[in-house]
Amino acid sequence: MYETPKGEACQFGDEQTLGDYCLFHVPEEIHDRSDGELSDLLHERVVQLIEQTPSQQKLDMRGVVFACKPLDLSHRTLPSLDLRYSIVQQPINFECSTLSTGTKLDSATFRKNANFNSTTFPGSVSFSNATFEATSSFCAASFKSDALFMHTMFQDDTDFHETAFDGATCFNYAQFQGTSRFSSTRFSNLALFYSAEFESANFRSAQFLGPALFGSAKFTDHAAFDLATFRKDVVFSATTFNNGADFSGPLTHKTELPSADFQDAVFRSSTSFRSRVFVTAPLFHQATLHQNTNLDCTDFQDVASDGAARAYRTLKLAMEHVRSRHEEARFYALEQKALRHHVETPTWANAASWIYEQISDFGRDALRPLILLSSLSTVATLVYWIAASTRAEIAVGDAIGGSAQLLGRCADFAVKQIINPFELWKLQGRIEAHQLFPSASLLNVIKYLSTLQSVLSATLLAVFGLALRWRFRRD
Ligand SMILES: [Zn+2]
Repeated sequence: MYETPKGEACQFGDEQTLGDYCLFHVPEEIHDRSDGELSDLLHERVVQLIEQTPSQQKLDMRGVVFACKPLDLSHRTLPSLDLRYSIVQQPINFECSTLSTGTKLDSATFRKNANFNSTTFPGSVSFSNATFEATSSFCAASFKSDALFMHTMFQDDTDFHETAFDGATCFNYAQFQGTSRFSSTRFSNLALFYSAEFESANFRSAQFLGPALFGSAKFTDHAAFDLATFRKDVVFSATTFNNGADFSGPLTHKTELPSADFQDAVFRSSTSFRSRVFVTAPLFHQATLHQNTNLDCTDFQDVASDGAARAYRTLKLAMEHVRSRHEEARFYALEQKALRHHVETPTWANAASWIYEQISDFGRDALRPLILLSSLSTVATLVYWIAASTRAEIAVGDAIGGSAQLLGRCADFAVKQIINPFELWKLQGRIEAHQLFPSASLLNVIKYLSTLQSVLSATLLAVFGLALRWRFRRD
């Protein structure tokens, strides 16, 4: 006598045919031993039952062993099928059909190909604990409400290309043992893949309009999320990527990757975030990044949020770990900018940080301090020239030539303040300067101005040296 796993008696009570079993619940072994007559009879009865039940009405087919010919249930509106614990031995085809609200497929087993291409699920549907032993395809299928695939086993390739999930989608603990294709799939609501296990997974151009949660998921082969759209939180915490992860955006423009959490994630092979804009500082705490991590054309917009400085510090350390100097300097700069938004950072530190940013972009720009140094020297030369010109020694007829000569001497004087700083504080220096600035009070003013020039020049040279060291450090 057939019993459901919950201990309920057979729902086809009046169809007892083979000793303990009704036609619908005859175990697979008995079918295997029979000459096929039983299967033909079963096929006939199944089709008859489905056709006789009006759409929207419930058809209890729990535990049915579909050991019949391939079932073609395509292009029709089907009743609300309860296929829990059923076993489908031959290919089954639901292409372009509508499976009425209340359809349940939990713990069903599909031994051959299951075709749900362009199938419409108007209500919430559950495939939890179901097993697809052969290929399954849901291309362009439409899930109008919640779709549950918890603990579902896909033992062969599965295809969700261009599938539309309008409600919440849950693939928690699902196992994809073949390739899984979610390319151009649209998840309009929550997309849960917590602890799911993938081989090669293709989420290319998928649209995650709600949060995309892949915490503790495992990708044994390549994980392709390139060109995918992410609108809400993206969580890949403790996710393992064993053979490459591609989160890159299109080549032509940058696309957003909002709040991204990659904490404790493990990237064992090449990883790409090319052309992505991180709207909030991405969290990579305790993550293991690969040396081949592509951050070309990426933007990190957030320097104001609470955890931004810590987030960038982690990335800076990760980049230091893989000896990526350029990226390390980049995250150092971002960390410094973020620190300026902390209330506990003292004003002087903020000011110093701002100046360091302005004069060399935190040591990332070696050219800028040199340009500033030459501008400073030019301005200093002009100031000294104006000051020196106030003396009345130049003959009127010789004004132009004398003035040009004086300008040259002032340029020499300005350069001297760089190579030989604080000269005017020594007697020898003062005697030499006296020839240019004969007035004692003027000389005193020049003494302080040249000191300022010396200090600024020394600072710019030091910053230039630091920037060179950042760039060419080999340790
Ligand atoms: Zn039965």
